Amino acid sequence: MTSKNTNNWGFATRAIHVGQEPDPISGATVPPIHLTSTYTQSSPGNHLGYEYSRSGNPTRGNLEKNLASLEKGAAGASFASGSAATAAILHTLSPGDKVVAYADVYGGTFRMLKQVFEPLGLVSIFANDVQPDTFAKLVDNKTKLVWLESPTNPLLRCLDIAAIAKIAHDAGARLAVDNTFATPALQQPIALGADYVVHSTTKYIGGHSDVIGGAVIVNDADLMERVAFYQNATGGVPGPLDCYLQQRGIKTLGIRMERHCQNATAIANHLRGHAKLSSVIYPFLEDHPDYAIAKKQMCAGGGMVSMVFNGGGESAIRFCENLSVFSLAESLGGVESLACHPAIMTHASIPKEIREARGVTDGLMRLSVGIEDIADLIADLDQALGKA
Ligand SMILES: *Cc1c(COP(=O)(O)O)cnc(C)c1O
Repeated sequence: MTSKNTNNWGFATRAIHVGQEPDPISGATVPPIHLTSTYTQSSPGNHLGYEYSRSGNPTRGNLEKNLASLEKGAAGASFASGSAATAAILHTLSPGDKVVAYADVYGGTFRMLKQVFEPLGLVSIFANDVQPDTFAKLVDNKTKLVWLESPTNPLLRCLDIAAIAKIAHDAGARLAVDNTFATPALQQPIALGADYVVHSTTKYIGGHSDVIGGAVIVNDADLMERVAFYQNATGGVPGPLDCYLQQRGIKTLGIRMERHCQNATAIANHLRGHAKLSSVIYPFLEDHPDYAIAKKQMCAGGGMVSMVFNGGGESAIRFCENLSVFSLAESLGGVESLACHPAIMTHASIPKEIREARGVTDGLMRLSVGIEDIADLIADLDQALGKA
Protein backbone atom coordinates (compact mmCIF):
# COMPACT_ATOMS: atom_id res chain seq x y z
CA MET A 1 0.00 0.00 0.00
CA THR A 2 1.29 3.48 -0.81
CA SER A 3 1.93 5.52 2.29
CA LYS A 4 -0.43 8.44 2.79
CA ASN A 5 0.13 11.80 4.41
CA THR A 6 -3.26 11.98 6.06
CA ASN A 7 -2.35 15.22 7.88
CA ASN A 8 -2.84 17.10 4.62
CA TRP A 9 -6.32 15.72 4.07
CA GLY A 10 -9.44 17.76 4.67
CA PHE A 11 -11.85 16.97 7.50
CA ALA A 12 -14.32 14.81 5.56
CA THR A 13 -11.54 12.75 3.96
CA ARG A 14 -9.91 12.10 7.34
CA ALA A 15 -13.31 11.23 8.86
CA ILE A 16 -13.91 8.59 6.19
CA HIS A 17 -10.42 7.15 5.73
CA VAL A 18 -8.11 7.48 8.74
CA GLY A 19 -7.87 4.15 10.60
CA GLN A 20 -10.10 2.59 7.94
CA GLU A 21 -7.62 0.66 5.83
CA PRO A 22 -9.07 -2.31 3.90
CA ASP A 23 -8.77 -5.62 5.76
CA PRO A 24 -5.42 -7.20 4.76
CA ILE A 25 -6.83 -10.75 4.93
CA SER A 26 -10.02 -10.42 2.85
CA GLY A 27 -9.68 -7.04 1.18
CA ALA A 28 -12.95 -5.98 2.85
CA THR A 29 -13.17 -2.23 2.17
CA VAL A 30 -14.87 -1.65 5.50
CA PRO A 31 -12.71 -3.10 8.29
CA PRO A 32 -14.38 -6.02 10.09
CA ILE A 33 -15.76 -5.64 13.64
CA HIS A 34 -13.39 -7.61 15.87
CA LEU A 35 -15.78 -9.37 18.23
CA THR A 36 -13.19 -11.12 20.31
CA SER A 37 -12.08 -10.89 23.91
CA THR A 38 -8.77 -12.68 23.34
CA TYR A 39 -6.11 -13.38 20.69
CA THR A 40 -4.35 -16.66 19.86
CA GLN A 41 -0.59 -16.69 20.32
CA SER A 42 1.74 -18.96 18.31
CA SER A 43 4.12 -19.32 21.24
CA PRO A 44 3.93 -17.73 24.72
CA GLY A 45 4.33 -13.97 24.29
CA ASN A 46 4.43 -14.29 20.50
CA HIS A 47 1.38 -12.43 19.20
CA LEU A 48 0.33 -9.90 16.56
CA GLY A 49 0.13 -6.93 18.95
CA TYR A 50 -3.11 -7.84 20.72
CA GLU A 51 -3.48 -10.02 23.82
CA TYR A 52 -6.80 -9.16 25.46
CA SER A 53 -9.53 -6.74 24.34
CA ARG A 54 -9.60 -4.57 27.47
CA SER A 55 -5.99 -3.67 26.66
CA GLY A 56 -6.49 -3.36 22.92
CA ASN A 57 -8.93 -4.28 20.17
CA PRO A 58 -8.45 -3.47 16.46
CA THR A 59 -11.94 -1.96 16.03
CA ARG A 60 -11.35 0.32 19.01
CA GLY A 61 -7.81 1.11 17.85
CA ASN A 62 -9.11 2.21 14.45
CA LEU A 63 -11.66 4.52 16.09
CA GLU A 64 -9.01 5.99 18.41
CA LYS A 65 -6.73 6.73 15.45
CA ASN A 66 -9.59 8.34 13.59
CA LEU A 67 -10.67 10.54 16.55
CA ALA A 68 -7.07 11.71 17.09
CA SER A 69 -6.90 12.70 13.43
CA LEU A 70 -10.22 14.61 13.54
CA GLU A 71 -9.02 16.72 16.49
CA LYS A 72 -5.48 16.99 15.04
CA GLY A 73 -4.14 15.49 18.26
CA ALA A 74 -1.22 13.13 18.91
CA ALA A 75 -3.36 10.22 20.16
CA GLY A 76 -6.87 9.25 21.22
CA ALA A 77 -8.43 6.85 23.73
CA SER A 78 -12.02 5.61 23.61
CA PHE A 79 -14.17 5.06 26.67
CA ALA A 80 -17.53 3.49 27.48
CA SER A 81 -19.09 6.97 27.91
CA GLY A 82 -18.22 10.66 27.94
CA SER A 83 -18.31 10.46 31.74
CA ALA A 84 -15.71 7.65 31.75
CA ALA A 85 -13.52 9.82 29.47
CA THR A 86 -13.86 12.75 31.89
CA ALA A 87 -12.93 10.49 34.82
CA ALA A 88 -9.81 9.33 32.96
CA ILE A 89 -8.46 12.88 32.78
CA LEU A 90 -9.36 13.69 36.40
CA HIS A 91 -7.56 10.49 37.47
CA THR A 92 -4.28 11.86 36.11
CA LEU A 93 -4.38 14.33 39.06
CA SER A 94 -3.30 13.79 42.68
CA PRO A 95 -4.82 14.68 46.06
CA GLY A 96 -4.31 18.39 46.77
CA ASP A 97 -4.29 19.34 43.09
CA LYS A 98 -6.71 22.09 42.13
CA VAL A 99 -9.10 22.09 39.17
CA VAL A 100 -10.59 25.36 37.93
CA ALA A 101 -13.75 24.82 35.88
CA TYR A 102 -16.48 26.98 34.41
CA ALA A 103 -19.50 26.86 36.75
CA ASP A 104 -21.93 25.72 34.04
CA VAL A 105 -20.07 22.58 33.02
CA TYR A 106 -22.08 19.50 32.11
CA GLY A 107 -24.03 18.46 35.22
CA GLY A 108 -22.36 15.04 35.34
CA THR A 109 -18.91 16.67 35.27
CA PHE A 110 -19.88 19.00 38.15
CA ARG A 111 -21.21 16.03 40.13
CA MET A 112 -18.03 14.02 39.46
CA LEU A 113 -15.79 16.87 40.60
CA LYS A 114 -17.83 17.51 43.78
CA GLN A 115 -18.98 14.03 44.79
CA VAL A 116 -16.37 11.63 43.37
CA PHE A 117 -13.07 13.53 43.22
CA GLU A 118 -13.42 16.05 46.07
CA PRO A 119 -13.69 13.24 48.64
CA LEU A 120 -10.47 11.84 47.12
CA GLY A 121 -8.67 15.13 47.76
CA LEU A 122 -9.03 17.08 44.51
CA VAL A 123 -9.98 20.71 45.07
CA SER A 124 -12.44 22.15 42.54
CA ILE A 125 -13.10 25.84 42.10
CA PHE A 126 -15.69 27.28 39.73
CA ALA A 127 -15.56 30.40 37.58
CA ASN A 128 -18.96 32.11 37.65
CA ASP A 129 -18.57 33.89 34.34
CA VAL A 130 -16.94 33.25 30.98
CA GLN A 131 -14.30 36.04 31.16
CA PRO A 132 -10.67 34.86 30.94
CA ASP A 133 -9.86 37.39 33.73
CA THR A 134 -12.09 35.45 36.10
CA PHE A 135 -10.12 32.28 35.33
CA ALA A 136 -6.84 34.18 35.78
CA LYS A 137 -7.89 35.19 39.31
CA LEU A 138 -8.73 31.60 40.31
CA VAL A 139 -5.72 29.82 38.79
CA ASP A 140 -2.69 29.52 41.11
CA ASN A 141 0.39 27.33 41.51
CA LYS A 142 -1.71 24.46 42.95
CA THR A 143 -3.89 24.45 39.83
CA LYS A 144 -3.07 21.46 37.64
CA LEU A 145 -6.09 21.50 35.34
CA VAL A 146 -8.50 24.03 33.86
CA TRP A 147 -11.74 22.55 32.49
CA LEU A 148 -14.19 24.20 30.14
CA GLU A 149 -16.90 23.55 27.60
CA SER A 150 -17.73 25.83 24.71
CA PRO A 151 -20.51 26.32 23.74
CA THR A 152 -22.01 25.52 27.14
CA ASN A 153 -25.23 23.74 27.99
CA PRO A 154 -28.00 25.00 27.78
CA LEU A 155 -27.17 28.74 27.50
CA LEU A 156 -24.61 28.28 24.69
CA ARG A 157 -22.06 30.65 26.25
CA CYS A 158 -18.70 30.58 24.43
CA LEU A 159 -15.38 30.79 26.27
CA ASP A 160 -12.16 32.07 24.71
CA ILE A 161 -10.19 28.80 24.46
CA ALA A 162 -6.91 30.41 23.32
CA ALA A 163 -6.93 33.04 26.10
CA ILE A 164 -7.78 30.51 28.82
CA ALA A 165 -5.15 28.06 27.48
CA LYS A 166 -2.53 30.78 27.93
CA ILE A 167 -3.69 31.48 31.50
CA ALA A 168 -3.53 27.75 32.34
CA HIS A 169 -0.10 27.27 30.77
CA ASP A 170 1.38 30.37 32.43
CA ALA A 171 0.44 28.81 35.78
CA GLY A 172 1.86 25.40 34.80
CA ALA A 173 -1.59 23.83 34.47
CA ARG A 174 -3.14 21.97 31.54
CA LEU A 175 -6.36 22.83 29.73
CA ALA A 176 -9.09 20.28 28.99
CA VAL A 177 -11.91 21.27 26.63
CA ASP A 178 -15.13 19.27 26.38
CA ASN A 179 -15.80 19.68 22.65
CA THR A 180 -19.04 17.69 22.59
CA PHE A 181 -21.31 20.57 21.48
CA ALA A 182 -19.09 21.97 18.72
CA THR A 183 -17.40 18.76 17.44
CA PRO A 184 -14.05 18.91 15.60
CA ALA A 185 -16.00 19.76 12.44
CA LEU A 186 -16.61 23.28 13.84
CA GLN A 187 -13.91 23.86 16.46
CA GLN A 188 -10.47 22.33 17.11
CA PRO A 189 -9.41 23.09 20.72
CA ILE A 190 -5.92 21.57 20.35
CA ALA A 191 -5.09 24.07 17.61
CA LEU A 192 -6.27 26.79 20.04
CA GLY A 193 -3.94 25.56 22.79
CA ALA A 194 -5.85 22.83 24.67
CA ASP A 195 -3.91 19.84 26.01
CA TYR A 196 -6.89 17.49 26.29
CA VAL A 197 -10.10 17.29 24.27
CA VAL A 198 -12.99 15.30 25.72
CA HIS A 199 -16.05 14.03 23.90
CA SER A 200 -19.30 12.44 24.74
CA THR A 201 -19.38 10.57 21.40
CA THR A 202 -22.95 9.72 22.40
CA LYS A 203 -23.92 13.07 20.89
CA TYR A 204 -22.87 14.42 17.44
CA ILE A 205 -19.94 12.05 16.83
CA GLY A 206 -22.13 8.94 17.07
CA GLY A 207 -24.86 11.14 15.67
CA HIS A 208 -27.75 8.66 15.56
CA SER A 209 -28.83 8.45 19.22
CA ASP A 210 -28.04 4.74 19.30
CA VAL A 211 -24.80 4.41 21.27
CA ILE A 212 -23.14 5.71 24.47
CA GLY A 213 -19.43 6.48 24.17
CA GLY A 214 -16.64 8.85 25.05
CA ALA A 215 -13.13 9.82 24.04
CA VAL A 216 -10.02 11.66 25.19
CA ILE A 217 -7.67 13.16 22.60
CA VAL A 218 -4.30 14.63 23.67
CA ASN A 219 -1.97 17.12 22.04
CA ASP A 220 1.15 15.22 23.10
CA ALA A 221 1.89 11.47 23.12
CA ASP A 222 3.39 11.70 26.64
CA LEU A 223 0.01 12.75 28.04
CA MET A 224 -1.60 9.67 26.49
CA GLU A 225 0.65 7.36 28.48
CA ARG A 226 -1.17 8.15 31.73
CA VAL A 227 -4.63 8.16 30.12
CA ALA A 228 -4.01 4.84 28.35
CA PHE A 229 -2.64 3.32 31.57
CA TYR A 230 -5.83 4.38 33.34
CA GLN A 231 -8.01 3.10 30.46
CA ASN A 232 -6.47 -0.37 30.74
CA ALA A 233 -6.09 -0.43 34.52
CA THR A 234 -9.67 0.58 35.35
CA GLY A 235 -11.32 -0.90 32.24
CA GLY A 236 -14.05 1.56 31.21
CA VAL A 237 -13.65 0.62 27.55
CA PRO A 238 -16.31 0.48 24.80
CA GLY A 239 -17.10 -2.83 23.11
CA PRO A 240 -16.27 -3.36 19.43
CA LEU A 241 -19.90 -3.02 18.28
CA ASP A 242 -20.16 0.35 20.00
CA CYS A 243 -16.85 1.42 18.41
CA TYR A 244 -18.20 0.39 15.02
CA LEU A 245 -21.39 2.44 15.49
CA GLN A 246 -19.34 5.52 16.41
CA GLN A 247 -17.04 4.97 13.44
CA ARG A 248 -19.99 4.65 11.09
CA GLY A 249 -21.43 7.87 12.51
CA ILE A 250 -18.14 9.72 12.04
CA LYS A 251 -18.10 9.03 8.30
CA THR A 252 -20.97 11.51 7.87
CA LEU A 253 -20.00 13.92 10.68
CA GLY A 254 -18.87 16.69 8.33
CA ILE A 255 -21.97 16.66 6.17
CA ARG A 256 -24.29 16.19 9.16
CA MET A 257 -22.79 19.18 10.96
CA GLU A 258 -23.26 21.33 7.85
CA ARG A 259 -26.96 20.48 7.82
CA HIS A 260 -27.36 20.77 11.63
CA CYS A 261 -25.85 24.27 11.42
CA GLN A 262 -27.92 25.29 8.38
CA ASN A 263 -31.17 24.18 10.03
CA ALA A 264 -30.26 25.71 13.41
CA THR A 265 -29.38 29.04 11.76
CA ALA A 266 -32.69 29.07 9.88
CA ILE A 267 -34.62 28.28 13.08
CA ALA A 268 -32.76 30.88 15.17
CA ASN A 269 -33.51 33.54 12.56
CA HIS A 270 -37.13 32.44 12.23
CA LEU A 271 -37.80 32.43 15.99
CA ARG A 272 -36.07 35.73 16.66
CA GLY A 273 -38.58 38.40 17.56
CA HIS A 274 -41.46 35.90 17.97
CA ALA A 275 -44.16 37.45 20.16
CA LYS A 276 -44.13 34.52 22.62
CA LEU A 277 -40.34 34.55 23.15
CA SER A 278 -38.28 37.01 25.14
CA SER A 279 -35.00 35.73 23.69
CA VAL A 280 -33.47 33.33 21.19
CA ILE A 281 -29.95 32.13 21.94
CA TYR A 282 -27.59 31.01 19.16
CA PRO A 283 -23.81 31.70 19.13
CA PHE A 284 -23.78 33.07 15.57
CA LEU A 285 -26.60 35.59 16.15
CA GLU A 286 -25.07 39.06 16.44
CA ASP A 287 -26.86 39.80 19.72
CA HIS A 288 -25.36 36.69 21.41
CA PRO A 289 -23.16 37.88 24.32
CA ASP A 290 -20.16 35.86 23.04
CA TYR A 291 -20.73 36.40 19.32
CA ALA A 292 -17.17 37.70 18.72
CA ILE A 293 -15.54 34.72 20.44
CA ALA A 294 -17.84 32.24 18.74
CA LYS A 295 -16.91 33.75 15.35
CA LYS A 296 -13.22 33.68 16.23
CA GLN A 297 -13.01 30.01 17.21
CA MET A 298 -15.88 28.22 15.45
CA CYS A 299 -16.51 27.94 11.73
CA ALA A 300 -20.31 27.72 12.22
CA GLY A 301 -22.74 28.23 15.08
CA GLY A 302 -23.61 24.58 15.81
CA GLY A 303 -26.87 22.66 15.95
CA MET A 304 -28.22 23.84 19.32
CA VAL A 305 -30.69 26.69 19.78
CA SER A 306 -32.14 27.84 23.11
CA MET A 307 -35.06 30.16 23.73
CA VAL A 308 -36.96 31.75 26.59
CA PHE A 309 -40.75 31.96 26.75
CA ASN A 310 -42.40 35.22 27.86
CA GLY A 311 -45.10 33.16 29.51
CA GLY A 312 -42.57 31.26 31.68
CA GLY A 313 -42.83 27.57 32.58
CA GLU A 314 -46.50 27.10 31.70
CA SER A 315 -45.95 28.37 28.19
CA ALA A 316 -42.83 26.23 27.72
CA ILE A 317 -44.64 23.12 28.92
CA ARG A 318 -47.61 23.69 26.56
CA PHE A 319 -45.06 24.11 23.74
CA CYS A 320 -43.40 20.78 24.68
CA GLU A 321 -46.71 18.94 24.78
CA ASN A 322 -47.66 20.10 21.30
CA LEU A 323 -44.52 19.26 19.35
CA SER A 324 -44.83 16.50 16.79
CA VAL A 325 -41.65 16.35 14.64
CA PHE A 326 -39.42 17.34 17.58
CA SER A 327 -39.26 14.65 20.30
CA LEU A 328 -39.27 15.77 23.91
CA ALA A 329 -36.12 14.04 25.16
CA GLU A 330 -32.79 14.53 26.90
CA SER A 331 -29.51 14.21 25.00
CA LEU A 332 -28.61 15.91 21.74
CA GLY A 333 -26.65 15.65 18.54
CA GLY A 334 -28.64 12.96 16.72
CA VAL A 335 -30.12 13.24 13.24
CA GLU A 336 -33.60 13.65 14.79
CA SER A 337 -34.67 16.96 16.33
CA LEU A 338 -35.12 16.98 20.09
CA ALA A 339 -36.54 19.51 22.50
CA CYS A 340 -35.57 19.64 26.17
CA HIS A 341 -36.93 21.60 29.13
CA PRO A 342 -33.69 21.95 31.15
CA ALA A 343 -35.24 23.13 34.45
CA ILE A 344 -37.41 20.00 34.74
CA MET A 345 -35.33 17.52 32.71
CA THR A 346 -31.51 17.85 32.60
CA HIS A 347 -30.96 20.48 35.32
CA ALA A 348 -33.57 19.42 37.90
CA SER A 349 -30.93 18.48 40.49
CA ILE A 350 -29.63 22.07 40.73
CA PRO A 351 -31.42 24.08 43.49
CA LYS A 352 -33.96 26.49 41.96
CA GLU A 353 -32.26 29.72 43.19
CA ILE A 354 -28.85 28.68 41.79
CA ARG A 355 -30.39 27.43 38.56
CA GLU A 356 -32.35 30.64 38.00
CA ALA A 357 -29.39 32.87 38.91
CA ARG A 358 -27.53 31.13 36.10
CA GLY A 359 -30.34 31.78 33.61
CA VAL A 360 -31.86 28.29 33.57
CA THR A 361 -35.39 29.53 34.24
CA ASP A 362 -38.68 27.64 33.90
CA GLY A 363 -39.31 29.42 30.59
CA LEU A 364 -36.08 28.18 28.97
CA MET A 365 -36.21 25.53 26.23
CA ARG A 366 -33.26 23.92 24.45
CA LEU A 367 -33.54 22.53 20.91
CA SER A 368 -31.16 20.01 19.37
CA VAL A 369 -31.93 20.77 15.75
CA GLY A 370 -31.77 17.64 13.58
CA ILE A 371 -31.23 17.20 9.87
CA GLU A 372 -34.86 16.78 8.78
CA ASP A 373 -36.40 19.08 6.14
CA ILE A 374 -36.28 22.61 7.48
CA ALA A 375 -39.85 23.41 6.33
CA ASP A 376 -41.20 20.59 8.51
CA LEU A 377 -39.17 21.69 11.53
CA ILE A 378 -40.30 25.30 11.24
CA ALA A 379 -43.94 24.30 10.70
CA ASP A 380 -43.77 22.13 13.83
CA LEU A 381 -42.23 24.90 15.95
CA ASP A 382 -44.79 27.43 14.65
CA GLN A 383 -47.82 25.31 15.46
CA ALA A 384 -46.49 24.41 18.95
CA LEU A 385 -45.63 28.07 19.61
CA GLY A 386 -49.17 28.96 18.58
CA LYS A 387 -50.49 26.76 21.43
CA ALA A 388 -47.87 27.84 23.98
C1 LIG B 1 -23.57 14.09 27.48
C2 LIG B 1 -22.41 14.92 27.85
C3 LIG B 1 -21.38 14.42 28.68
C4 LIG B 1 -21.43 13.05 29.31
O1 LIG B 1 -21.35 12.04 28.36
P1 LIG B 1 -22.02 10.59 28.53
O2 LIG B 1 -21.69 9.91 27.25
O3 LIG B 1 -23.49 10.80 28.77
O4 LIG B 1 -21.37 9.96 29.73
C5 LIG B 1 -20.30 15.25 28.93
N1 LIG B 1 -20.24 16.49 28.42
C6 LIG B 1 -21.21 17.00 27.65
C7 LIG B 1 -21.08 18.39 27.11
C8 LIG B 1 -22.33 16.23 27.34
O5 LIG B 1 -23.31 16.76 26.57
